[in-house]
Amino acid sequence: MEEIVIFGHPSLRTKSSEITEFNNELEKLSERMIKIMYEAPGVGLAAPQIGINKNIFVFDAGDGPKTAINPNKIEVEGSAVFLEGCLSLPGYYWEIERPEFAKIYCQNLKGEPITYEGDELTGRVLQHEFDHLKGKLLLSSLTRKERKEAIKKITVNGFPGDDI
Ligand SMILES: [Zn+2]
Repeated sequence: MEEIVIFGHPSLRTKSSEITEFNNELEKLSERMIKIMYEAPGVGLAAPQIGINKNIFVFDAGDGPKTAINPNKIEVEGSAVFLEGCLSLPGYYWEIERPEFAKIYCQNLKGEPITYEGDELTGRVLQHEFDHLKGKLLLSSLTRKERKEAIKKITVNGFPGDDI
């Protein structure tokens, strides 16, 4: 967990920049992110969560690890409430309403265009990770009142492991 930055870290609020070089280094970054995601464990990890503001996220919604590079467009449909957490807000979960289905347009490790799509967990992870690359945390998907309460709770209770 030590590589994952948590709420309050500036890279979580910074918009990520486009990846232009599809090389060995990028492959290594993707592999490292997948490893960190599984170790956490989590179902998705965006580069800003390890302090790197580049347009890449990894996820595994149940059918193996996937890498999304430079996502530039997301199509959404429907609506669902889902208990959502974030590796950068460890120990906290909120019921968040978002579109149920998402289809994201991005590139693979070779720079080729690729899409990922799905509902339920897949749809949720795609939207959540895409938000990270825009510098948005799931707290911004809460209502104003909920957000105020959430931040108060975090300020009072901190995160698990804070006292170690
Ligand atoms: Zn997250």
